[in-house]
Amino acid sequence: MWTDAETGAMTGKIVVLGGGTGGTIAANRLRRALDDVEITVVDRDDDHVYQPGLLFLPFGLADRQDLVRSRRRQLHDGVDYRGCGVDHVDIDKNRVVLGDGGELGYDILVVASGSRLLPEETDGLTGPGWRGKVGTFYDLAGATALESALRDFAGGRLVVNVVDLPIKCPVAPLEFCFLADWYFRERGIRDAVRLTYVTPLDAAFTKPVAAATLAGLLAEKGVELVTEFNTGEVDGEAGRLTSFDGRTVDFDLGVVVPLHGGADFVERSPGLGDALGFVPADEHTLRSKARPNIFVIGDAAALPTSKAGSVTHFEGEVLTENVARTLAGQPLDASFDGHTNCFIETGFGKALLIDFNYETEPVTGHYPGPIGLPLLKESRLNHLGKLMFSWLYWHSLLPGRSVPGVSAAMPTAGKRLPTDDRTR
Ligand SMILES: Cc1cc2nc3c(=O)[nH]c(=O)nc-3n(C[C@H](O)[C@H](O)[C@H](O)COP(=O)(O)OP(=O)(O)OC[C@H]3O[C@@H](n4cnc5c(N)ncnc54)[C@H](O)[C@@H]3O)c2cc1C
Repeated sequence: MWTDAETGAMTGKIVVLGGGTGGTIAANRLRRALDDVEITVVDRDDDHVYQPGLLFLPFGLADRQDLVRSRRRQLHDGVDYRGCGVDHVDIDKNRVVLGDGGELGYDILVVASGSRLLPEETDGLTGPGWRGKVGTFYDLAGATALESALRDFAGGRLVVNVVDLPIKCPVAPLEFCFLADWYFRERGIRDAVRLTYVTPLDAAFTKPVAAATLAGLLAEKGVELVTEFNTGEVDGEAGRLTSFDGRTVDFDLGVVVPLHGGADFVERSPGLGDALGFVPADEHTLRSKARPNIFVIGDAAALPTSKAGSVTHFEGEVLTENVARTLAGQPLDASFDGHTNCFIETGFGKALLIDFNYETEPVTGHYPGPIGLPLLKESRLNHLGKLMFSWLYWHSLLPGRSVPGVSAAMPTAGKRLPTDDRTR
Protein backbone atom coordinates (compact mmCIF):
# COMPACT_ATOMS: atom_id res chain seq x y z
CA MET A 1 0.00 0.00 0.00
CA TRP A 2 2.66 2.52 1.07
CA THR A 3 5.55 1.11 -0.94
CA ASP A 4 7.82 2.97 -3.33
CA ALA A 5 7.01 1.75 -6.86
CA GLU A 6 10.67 1.76 -7.98
CA THR A 7 12.54 0.52 -4.90
CA GLY A 8 9.78 -1.46 -3.14
CA ALA A 9 10.77 0.25 0.15
CA MET A 10 8.03 1.09 2.63
CA THR A 11 7.41 4.81 2.79
CA GLY A 12 5.05 7.02 4.71
CA LYS A 13 4.71 9.43 7.59
CA ILE A 14 4.37 8.08 11.10
CA VAL A 15 3.42 10.46 13.89
CA VAL A 16 3.80 9.30 17.50
CA LEU A 17 1.85 11.28 20.11
CA GLY A 18 3.74 11.16 23.41
CA GLY A 19 7.44 10.74 24.05
CA GLY A 20 7.25 8.78 27.30
CA THR A 21 7.88 5.06 27.71
CA GLY A 22 5.63 3.85 24.89
CA GLY A 23 6.26 6.65 22.41
CA THR A 24 10.03 6.29 22.76
CA ILE A 25 9.96 2.49 22.47
CA ALA A 26 7.63 2.66 19.45
CA ALA A 27 9.61 5.36 17.61
CA ASN A 28 12.98 3.66 18.20
CA ARG A 29 11.71 0.22 17.20
CA LEU A 30 10.04 1.63 14.09
CA ARG A 31 13.21 3.52 13.15
CA ARG A 32 15.19 0.28 13.31
CA ALA A 33 12.58 -1.71 11.40
CA LEU A 34 11.70 0.74 8.62
CA ASP A 35 14.38 2.64 6.73
CA ASP A 36 12.38 4.96 4.52
CA VAL A 37 9.49 6.20 6.66
CA GLU A 38 9.43 9.61 8.32
CA ILE A 39 8.91 9.38 12.08
CA THR A 40 7.95 12.35 14.27
CA VAL A 41 7.43 12.20 18.03
CA VAL A 42 5.41 14.96 19.70
CA ASP A 43 5.54 15.73 23.41
CA ARG A 44 4.85 18.85 25.41
CA ASP A 45 8.14 18.94 27.34
CA ASP A 46 11.64 17.47 27.27
CA ASP A 47 11.59 15.79 30.71
CA HIS A 48 11.38 12.01 30.48
CA VAL A 49 10.71 10.79 34.04
CA TYR A 50 11.57 7.23 35.07
CA GLN A 51 8.23 6.77 36.88
CA PRO A 52 9.04 3.56 38.83
CA GLY A 53 11.66 5.67 40.66
CA LEU A 54 8.88 7.90 42.08
CA LEU A 55 8.10 5.14 44.57
CA PHE A 56 11.60 5.37 46.04
CA LEU A 57 11.96 9.16 46.14
CA PRO A 58 9.80 9.81 49.25
CA PHE A 59 11.87 7.29 51.24
CA GLY A 60 15.20 8.88 50.30
CA LEU A 61 16.04 5.83 48.15
CA ALA A 62 16.33 7.72 44.86
CA ASP A 63 17.61 11.12 43.78
CA ARG A 64 15.29 13.36 41.84
CA GLN A 65 17.97 14.29 39.27
CA ASP A 66 18.65 10.60 38.48
CA LEU A 67 15.03 10.05 37.47
CA VAL A 68 14.81 12.66 34.71
CA ARG A 69 16.51 12.65 31.31
CA SER A 70 15.97 14.50 28.04
CA ARG A 71 13.21 12.91 25.97
CA ARG A 72 14.81 14.00 22.76
CA ARG A 73 18.08 12.28 23.63
CA GLN A 74 16.34 8.92 24.12
CA LEU A 75 15.27 8.95 20.46
CA HIS A 76 17.41 7.38 17.75
CA ASP A 77 18.93 9.48 14.98
CA GLY A 78 16.40 9.85 12.22
CA VAL A 79 13.44 10.39 14.56
CA ASP A 80 12.16 13.99 14.51
CA TYR A 81 11.10 15.50 17.79
CA ARG A 82 8.49 18.21 18.14
CA GLY A 83 8.33 19.83 21.58
CA CYS A 84 4.74 21.00 21.65
CA GLY A 85 1.36 20.10 23.17
CA VAL A 86 -1.17 18.23 21.04
CA ASP A 87 -4.44 20.08 20.68
CA HIS A 88 -6.48 17.46 18.84
CA VAL A 89 -6.48 14.82 16.12
CA ASP A 90 -8.75 14.99 13.10
CA ILE A 91 -9.10 11.29 12.39
CA ASP A 92 -11.07 11.92 9.18
CA LYS A 93 -8.31 14.06 7.68
CA ASN A 94 -5.31 12.10 9.11
CA ARG A 95 -4.08 15.27 10.74
CA VAL A 96 -2.74 16.26 14.17
CA VAL A 97 -3.31 19.85 15.25
CA LEU A 98 -0.68 21.12 17.67
CA GLY A 99 -1.04 23.59 20.54
CA ASP A 100 1.02 26.19 18.64
CA GLY A 101 -1.36 26.02 15.69
CA GLY A 102 0.96 23.84 13.57
CA GLU A 103 -0.31 20.71 11.85
CA LEU A 104 1.17 17.28 11.15
CA GLY A 105 -0.30 14.99 8.52
CA TYR A 106 0.19 11.24 8.97
CA ASP A 107 -0.23 7.93 7.20
CA ILE A 108 0.04 6.05 10.51
CA LEU A 109 -0.68 7.54 13.94
CA VAL A 110 0.62 5.95 17.14
CA VAL A 111 -1.12 7.20 20.29
CA ALA A 112 1.30 6.93 23.22
CA SER A 113 0.01 9.70 25.43
CA GLY A 114 -0.23 7.71 28.66
CA SER A 115 -2.62 8.50 31.49
CA ARG A 116 -3.27 11.80 33.24
CA LEU A 117 -3.70 12.35 36.97
CA LEU A 118 -7.02 14.01 37.79
CA PRO A 119 -6.80 15.01 41.49
CA GLU A 120 -9.19 17.92 40.91
CA GLU A 121 -11.95 15.38 40.12
CA THR A 122 -12.16 14.36 43.79
CA ASP A 123 -13.92 16.89 46.02
CA GLY A 124 -11.51 18.71 48.32
CA LEU A 125 -8.36 16.84 47.26
CA THR A 126 -6.58 19.83 45.72
CA GLY A 127 -7.97 22.23 48.37
CA PRO A 128 -6.19 23.26 51.59
CA GLY A 129 -3.57 20.72 52.65
CA TRP A 130 -2.81 19.47 49.09
CA ARG A 131 0.91 18.71 48.68
CA GLY A 132 1.14 19.17 52.48
CA LYS A 133 -0.88 16.95 54.81
CA VAL A 134 -2.16 15.10 51.76
CA GLY A 135 -0.21 14.39 48.59
CA THR A 136 0.68 11.82 45.97
CA PHE A 137 3.87 10.10 44.85
CA TYR A 138 2.44 9.61 41.35
CA ASP A 139 4.20 12.66 39.90
CA LEU A 140 7.62 14.21 40.42
CA ALA A 141 6.40 17.27 42.35
CA GLY A 142 4.30 15.09 44.64
CA ALA A 143 6.99 12.48 45.30
CA THR A 144 9.46 15.28 46.11
CA ALA A 145 7.01 16.95 48.54
CA LEU A 146 6.34 13.62 50.24
CA GLU A 147 10.04 13.12 50.91
CA SER A 148 10.07 16.08 53.33
CA ALA A 149 6.59 15.24 54.68
CA LEU A 150 7.80 11.74 55.61
CA ARG A 151 11.04 13.07 57.06
CA ASP A 152 9.05 15.40 59.33
CA PHE A 153 6.50 12.76 60.30
CA ALA A 154 7.07 11.91 63.96
CA GLY A 155 4.07 9.63 64.48
CA GLY A 156 0.34 9.29 63.87
CA ARG A 157 -1.79 7.69 61.17
CA LEU A 158 -0.49 7.42 57.61
CA VAL A 159 -3.18 6.43 55.13
CA VAL A 160 -2.52 5.29 51.55
CA ASN A 161 -5.65 5.61 49.41
CA VAL A 162 -6.47 4.59 45.85
CA VAL A 163 -9.43 6.71 44.74
CA ASP A 164 -10.53 4.54 41.82
CA LEU A 165 -9.24 2.27 39.06
CA PRO A 166 -7.72 2.13 36.51
CA ILE A 167 -4.38 3.48 37.76
CA LYS A 168 -0.91 2.96 36.39
CA CYS A 169 1.17 0.35 38.19
CA PRO A 170 -1.66 -0.90 40.45
CA VAL A 171 0.86 -2.48 42.85
CA ALA A 172 2.72 0.80 43.56
CA PRO A 173 0.39 1.94 46.41
CA LEU A 174 0.91 -1.43 48.13
CA GLU A 175 4.66 -1.06 47.69
CA PHE A 176 4.38 2.37 49.32
CA CYS A 177 2.78 0.70 52.40
CA PHE A 178 5.52 -1.95 52.59
CA LEU A 179 8.29 0.64 52.25
CA ALA A 180 6.61 2.89 54.86
CA ASP A 181 6.71 -0.02 57.31
CA TRP A 182 10.42 -0.50 56.57
CA TYR A 183 11.13 3.27 56.72
CA PHE A 184 9.53 3.86 60.12
CA ARG A 185 11.20 0.76 61.56
CA GLU A 186 14.58 2.07 60.35
CA ARG A 187 13.79 5.37 62.07
CA GLY A 188 12.83 3.50 65.26
CA ILE A 189 9.31 4.99 65.39
CA ARG A 190 7.24 2.21 63.86
CA ASP A 191 5.26 1.74 67.10
CA ALA A 192 4.16 5.38 66.89
CA VAL A 193 2.85 5.02 63.31
CA ARG A 194 -0.48 3.48 62.33
CA LEU A 195 -0.44 2.42 58.66
CA THR A 196 -3.68 1.95 56.72
CA TYR A 197 -4.32 0.97 53.09
CA VAL A 198 -7.70 2.13 51.75
CA THR A 199 -8.87 0.67 48.42
CA PRO A 200 -12.07 0.65 46.36
CA LEU A 201 -11.49 -3.06 45.66
CA ASP A 202 -12.94 -5.85 47.79
CA ALA A 203 -9.41 -7.20 48.35
CA ALA A 204 -5.78 -6.01 48.44
CA PHE A 205 -5.44 -6.52 44.66
CA THR A 206 -7.50 -7.43 41.60
CA LYS A 207 -6.22 -10.96 40.99
CA PRO A 208 -7.34 -13.48 43.66
CA VAL A 209 -4.11 -15.51 44.14
CA ALA A 210 -1.88 -12.41 44.31
CA ALA A 211 -4.49 -10.59 46.42
CA ALA A 212 -4.30 -13.29 49.10
CA THR A 213 -0.47 -13.14 49.18
CA LEU A 214 -0.45 -9.34 49.31
CA ALA A 215 -3.14 -9.20 52.04
CA GLY A 216 -1.01 -11.65 54.04
CA LEU A 217 2.02 -9.35 53.67
CA LEU A 218 0.02 -6.29 54.73
CA ALA A 219 -1.15 -8.14 57.86
CA GLU A 220 2.38 -9.41 58.59
CA LYS A 221 3.70 -5.85 58.44
CA GLY A 222 0.87 -4.44 60.58
CA VAL A 223 -0.83 -2.48 57.78
CA GLU A 224 -4.63 -2.27 58.20
CA LEU A 225 -6.66 -2.98 55.07
CA VAL A 226 -9.89 -1.03 54.41
CA THR A 227 -11.74 -2.36 51.35
CA GLU A 228 -14.68 -1.26 49.18
CA PHE A 229 -14.03 2.38 50.09
CA ASN A 230 -15.02 4.65 47.21
CA THR A 231 -13.51 8.01 48.11
CA GLY A 232 -15.94 10.86 47.49
CA GLU A 233 -14.18 13.64 49.38
CA VAL A 234 -10.79 14.42 50.87
CA ASP A 235 -10.38 17.07 53.55
CA GLY A 236 -6.66 17.81 53.60
CA GLU A 237 -6.96 20.31 56.44
CA ALA A 238 -8.91 18.12 58.85
CA GLY A 239 -7.16 14.96 57.57
CA ARG A 240 -10.19 12.91 56.54
CA LEU A 241 -11.30 10.69 53.66
CA THR A 242 -15.05 10.30 53.21
CA SER A 243 -16.53 7.59 51.02
CA PHE A 244 -19.63 7.98 48.87
CA ASP A 245 -21.49 5.78 51.37
CA GLY A 246 -20.56 8.07 54.27
CA ARG A 247 -17.72 6.12 55.93
CA THR A 248 -14.68 8.11 57.09
CA VAL A 249 -10.98 7.37 57.57
CA ASP A 250 -8.90 9.97 59.45
CA PHE A 251 -5.23 10.61 58.73
CA ASP A 252 -2.28 12.68 59.88
CA LEU A 253 -0.59 12.16 56.53
CA GLY A 254 -2.58 11.11 53.47
CA VAL A 255 -0.98 9.56 50.38
CA VAL A 256 -3.57 9.49 47.63
CA VAL A 257 -3.42 7.95 44.17
CA PRO A 258 -5.80 10.24 42.25
CA LEU A 259 -8.26 9.29 39.54
CA HIS A 260 -6.64 8.64 36.16
CA GLY A 261 -7.93 9.61 32.74
CA GLY A 262 -6.49 9.62 29.25
CA ALA A 263 -4.71 12.58 27.63
CA ASP A 264 -6.67 15.82 27.33
CA PHE A 265 -6.40 15.94 23.51
CA VAL A 266 -8.20 12.59 23.22
CA GLU A 267 -11.34 14.25 24.62
CA ARG A 268 -10.97 16.97 21.98
CA SER A 269 -10.62 14.43 19.13
CA PRO A 270 -14.07 13.22 18.09
CA GLY A 271 -14.24 9.46 17.56
CA LEU A 272 -10.81 8.65 19.01
CA GLY A 273 -11.37 7.81 22.68
CA ASP A 274 -13.82 6.54 25.29
CA ALA A 275 -15.53 8.44 28.12
CA LEU A 276 -12.35 8.34 30.25
CA GLY A 277 -10.13 9.60 27.41
CA PHE A 278 -8.49 6.21 26.75
CA VAL A 279 -8.32 4.80 23.23
CA PRO A 280 -10.19 1.54 22.57
CA ALA A 281 -8.10 -0.94 20.58
CA ASP A 282 -8.01 -4.56 19.54
CA GLU A 283 -6.46 -6.34 22.51
CA HIS A 284 -4.25 -8.58 20.38
CA THR A 285 -3.17 -6.31 17.48
CA LEU A 286 -3.21 -2.88 19.24
CA ARG A 287 -4.97 -1.35 16.23
CA SER A 288 -7.41 1.32 17.42
CA LYS A 289 -11.11 0.83 16.97
CA ALA A 290 -11.29 4.40 15.64
CA ARG A 291 -9.38 3.96 12.36
CA PRO A 292 -7.24 1.19 10.77
CA ASN A 293 -4.22 3.52 10.50
CA ILE A 294 -4.22 4.43 14.22
CA PHE A 295 -2.43 2.23 16.77
CA VAL A 296 -2.16 2.57 20.55
CA ILE A 297 0.60 1.66 22.99
CA GLY A 298 0.94 1.90 26.78
CA ASP A 299 -1.36 3.49 29.32
CA ALA A 300 -3.33 5.38 26.65
CA ALA A 301 -4.94 2.13 25.47
CA ALA A 302 -8.30 1.00 26.84
CA LEU A 303 -7.27 -2.66 27.17
CA PRO A 304 -8.05 -5.27 29.86
CA THR A 305 -4.43 -5.36 31.03
CA SER A 306 -2.38 -3.36 33.56
CA LYS A 307 -1.16 0.13 32.84
CA ALA A 308 2.54 -0.63 33.33
CA GLY A 309 5.88 0.01 31.69
CA SER A 310 6.43 -3.73 31.28
CA VAL A 311 3.18 -4.07 29.31
CA THR A 312 4.16 -1.07 27.20
CA HIS A 313 7.51 -2.71 26.45
CA PHE A 314 5.90 -6.03 25.46
CA GLU A 315 3.37 -4.19 23.27
CA GLY A 316 6.24 -2.52 21.40
CA GLU A 317 7.11 -5.66 19.42
CA VAL A 318 3.59 -6.32 18.12
CA LEU A 319 2.95 -2.63 17.46
CA THR A 320 6.07 -2.27 15.31
CA GLU A 321 5.23 -5.39 13.37
CA ASN A 322 1.67 -4.23 12.78
CA VAL A 323 2.62 -0.74 11.65
CA ALA A 324 4.99 -2.37 9.13
CA ARG A 325 2.27 -4.80 8.02
CA THR A 326 -0.24 -1.97 7.61
CA LEU A 327 2.22 -0.06 5.40
CA ALA A 328 2.77 -3.23 3.38
CA GLY A 329 -0.96 -3.97 3.14
CA GLN A 330 -0.61 -7.29 4.97
CA PRO A 331 -2.84 -8.90 7.63
CA LEU A 332 -1.99 -7.96 11.24
CA ASP A 333 -0.12 -10.01 13.83
CA ALA A 334 -2.61 -10.77 16.62
CA SER A 335 -0.10 -12.14 19.12
CA PHE A 336 -0.18 -9.64 21.99
CA ASP A 337 -1.38 -11.69 24.97
CA GLY A 338 -1.61 -8.99 27.67
CA HIS A 339 1.72 -10.01 29.20
CA THR A 340 2.42 -8.08 32.43
CA ASN A 341 5.43 -8.41 34.65
CA CYS A 342 5.88 -6.47 37.92
CA PHE A 343 8.37 -6.47 40.75
CA ILE A 344 6.67 -5.58 44.03
CA GLU A 345 9.08 -4.02 46.52
CA THR A 346 8.30 -5.29 50.02
CA GLY A 347 10.98 -3.54 52.08
CA PHE A 348 14.11 -4.79 53.85
CA GLY A 349 15.85 -5.43 50.52
CA LYS A 350 13.23 -7.88 49.23
CA ALA A 351 10.61 -7.95 46.50
CA LEU A 352 7.97 -10.20 44.97
CA LEU A 353 7.56 -10.79 41.26
CA ILE A 354 4.25 -11.32 39.47
CA ASP A 355 3.81 -12.36 35.84
CA PHE A 356 0.46 -12.75 34.11
CA ASN A 357 -1.53 -12.14 30.92
CA TYR A 358 -5.14 -11.85 29.72
CA GLU A 359 -5.76 -15.54 30.38
CA THR A 360 -3.56 -16.44 33.34
CA GLU A 361 -3.55 -14.64 36.67
CA PRO A 362 -0.33 -14.28 38.70
CA VAL A 363 0.66 -17.69 40.07
CA THR A 364 3.61 -19.16 41.93
CA GLY A 365 6.67 -20.80 40.33
CA HIS A 366 9.66 -19.20 38.62
CA TYR A 367 10.26 -16.67 35.82
CA PRO A 368 11.15 -16.83 32.95
CA GLY A 369 11.64 -20.61 33.30
CA PRO A 370 11.92 -23.36 35.94
CA ILE A 371 15.25 -21.85 37.07
CA GLY A 372 14.74 -18.14 37.51
CA LEU A 373 13.29 -15.46 39.72
CA PRO A 374 10.75 -16.74 42.26
CA LEU A 375 7.15 -15.74 41.54
CA LEU A 376 4.79 -14.46 44.25
CA LYS A 377 7.49 -15.00 46.85
CA GLU A 378 9.67 -12.44 48.62
CA SER A 379 13.35 -12.68 47.69
CA ARG A 380 16.52 -10.58 47.54
CA LEU A 381 16.97 -11.62 43.91
CA ASN A 382 13.67 -9.96 42.99
CA HIS A 383 14.75 -6.79 44.80
CA LEU A 384 17.97 -6.75 42.75
CA GLY A 385 15.81 -7.27 39.63
CA LYS A 386 13.74 -4.22 40.57
CA LEU A 387 16.87 -2.10 41.05
CA MET A 388 18.38 -3.35 37.80
CA PHE A 389 15.20 -2.44 35.94
CA SER A 390 16.20 1.23 35.97
CA TRP A 391 19.38 0.48 33.98
CA LEU A 392 17.47 -1.79 31.61
CA TYR A 393 14.87 0.92 31.11
CA TRP A 394 17.29 3.56 29.85
CA HIS A 395 19.71 1.25 28.03
CA SER A 396 17.58 -1.55 26.64
CA LEU A 397 13.82 -0.92 26.77
CA LEU A 398 13.74 2.67 25.53
CA PRO A 399 16.29 2.09 22.72
CA GLY A 400 13.92 -0.66 21.54
CA ARG A 401 16.18 -3.63 22.18
CA SER A 402 14.81 -6.98 23.29
CA VAL A 403 15.91 -8.07 26.76
CA PRO A 404 17.64 -11.50 26.61
CA GLY A 405 15.43 -14.21 28.09
CA VAL A 406 12.40 -11.90 28.33
CA SER A 407 9.81 -12.39 25.60
CA ALA A 408 6.72 -10.39 24.77
CA ALA A 409 4.57 -13.52 25.10
CA MET A 410 4.09 -14.70 28.68
CA PRO A 411 6.22 -17.82 29.36
CA THR A 412 4.40 -20.74 30.99
CA ALA A 413 7.49 -22.86 31.74
CA GLY A 414 8.27 -22.62 35.44
CA LYS A 415 4.79 -21.46 36.40
CA ARG A 416 2.59 -23.51 38.70
CA LEU A 417 -0.65 -23.09 36.80
CA PRO A 418 -3.89 -24.08 38.55
CA THR A 419 -4.35 -26.99 36.11
CA ASP A 420 -0.78 -28.14 36.63
CA ASP A 421 -0.22 -31.40 38.58
CA ARG A 422 2.78 -29.84 40.29
CA THR A 423 0.48 -27.60 42.36
CA ARG A 424 -1.38 -30.52 43.86
C1 LIG B 1 4.79 5.71 41.01
C2 LIG B 1 4.83 4.83 39.79
C3 LIG B 1 5.51 3.63 39.83
C4 LIG B 1 5.53 2.81 38.71
N1 LIG B 1 6.21 1.62 38.78
C5 LIG B 1 6.23 0.80 37.71
C6 LIG B 1 6.93 -0.44 37.77
O1 LIG B 1 7.58 -0.77 38.78
N2 LIG B 1 6.89 -1.24 36.68
C7 LIG B 1 6.20 -0.90 35.56
O2 LIG B 1 6.19 -1.68 34.60
N3 LIG B 1 5.52 0.26 35.47
C8 LIG B 1 5.52 1.13 36.52
N4 LIG B 1 4.86 2.33 36.44
C9 LIG B 1 4.01 2.62 35.25
C10 LIG B 1 4.80 3.12 34.05
O3 LIG B 1 5.62 4.20 34.40
C11 LIG B 1 3.80 3.54 32.98
O4 LIG B 1 2.87 2.50 32.78
C12 LIG B 1 4.49 3.82 31.67
O5 LIG B 1 5.35 4.91 31.83
C13 LIG B 1 3.45 4.08 30.58
O6 LIG B 1 4.07 4.58 29.43
P1 LIG B 1 3.25 5.50 28.41
O7 LIG B 1 4.14 5.79 27.29
O8 LIG B 1 1.93 4.91 28.17
O9 LIG B 1 2.97 6.84 29.25
P2 LIG B 1 4.02 7.94 29.70
O10 LIG B 1 5.37 7.35 29.86
O11 LIG B 1 3.41 8.60 30.88
O12 LIG B 1 4.10 8.95 28.47
C14 LIG B 1 3.00 9.69 28.00
C15 LIG B 1 3.52 10.94 27.36
O13 LIG B 1 2.48 11.61 26.64
C16 LIG B 1 2.68 13.01 26.77
N5 LIG B 1 1.42 13.73 26.55
C17 LIG B 1 0.21 13.50 27.12
N6 LIG B 1 -0.68 14.40 26.68
C18 LIG B 1 -0.04 15.20 25.80
C19 LIG B 1 -0.42 16.32 24.99
N7 LIG B 1 -1.67 16.81 25.01
N8 LIG B 1 0.52 16.90 24.22
C20 LIG B 1 1.79 16.42 24.16
N9 LIG B 1 2.20 15.37 24.90
C21 LIG B 1 1.31 14.77 25.70
C22 LIG B 1 3.17 13.16 28.21
O14 LIG B 1 3.88 14.39 28.39
C23 LIG B 1 4.06 11.94 28.38
O15 LIG B 1 5.41 12.20 28.12
C24 LIG B 1 4.85 3.21 37.53
C25 LIG B 1 4.19 4.44 37.49
C26 LIG B 1 4.17 5.25 38.60
C27 LIG B 1 3.45 6.58 38.54
